[in-house]
Amino acid sequence: MNDQLIRLIKLESIDAEIAKNKEAQRKIPLQLAVAEQRATQAQSTLTQILETFTLLQKERRSKEQDLKIAEEKIAQRKLRLADLKTNREYQTHMSEIDAARREMGKIEEQILLLMEKGDQLQREIASQQEVVAAEEKAFGAQKAQADERLQEIAEAAGRLSSTWTEQSAGIDTSTLDAYRKLVDTRKSPAVVPLRGQTCRGCNFSLPPQRAAEVQIGEKIIRCSYCHRFLYPQPQAEAAG
Ligand SMILES: [Zn+2]
Repeated sequence: MNDQLIRLIKLESIDAEIAKNKEAQRKIPLQLAVAEQRATQAQSTLTQILETFTLLQKERRSKEQDLKIAEEKIAQRKLRLADLKTNREYQTHMSEIDAARREMGKIEEQILLLMEKGDQLQREIASQQEVVAAEEKAFGAQKAQADERLQEIAEAAGRLSSTWTEQSAGIDTSTLDAYRKLVDTRKSPAVVPLRGQTCRGCNFSLPPQRAAEVQIGEKIIRCSYCHRFLYPQPQAEAAG
């Protein structure tokens, strides 16, 4: 087969590798961003729970203060019991003490509820801390892996680039320009086999004389319809 044609076929496979490499390079930061987002989200959930817990503790301290006030109120009223003169005064006083006791009961219930909620939140905090640690670890591992992969890609890109230069050095400028034009206009693959008389790029049927020339493989021949480069179909494929 024509040496330039062989080089064009190689060039196209190198270009396919380069494209694959670029795609992998493009995806890595996106995948990494997902992992980072998960770690950030986990941390922000933890912060929210911690804030709720702080508010709850504040509320509990305030309720405990209310309870103390109510207790003192009862103690003071009890001290004044001896000073009371009439039965009516005594009844009123006792009912005030009862009311204060009921108030205390209510506050105590509220404090109990807040304590239960606090215990629940502490369990949530512990489990969310584990989630945060796991997500951060996963992100760290993925980051290290991504850096390594990007390094590999950069090295592969360097190798591909020099192979590309080697292969293209043996191709005429006009042929190379024509190849580039095909690639730029998204006519990939730009180098296709001829099956019988048919271009595998566009299914155009070539005149017999031209098809025969392609099968000989000595000249560079392009499809007269899509302008792709044509090479003789390998024997194994031609049989199949
Ligand atoms: Zn064609």
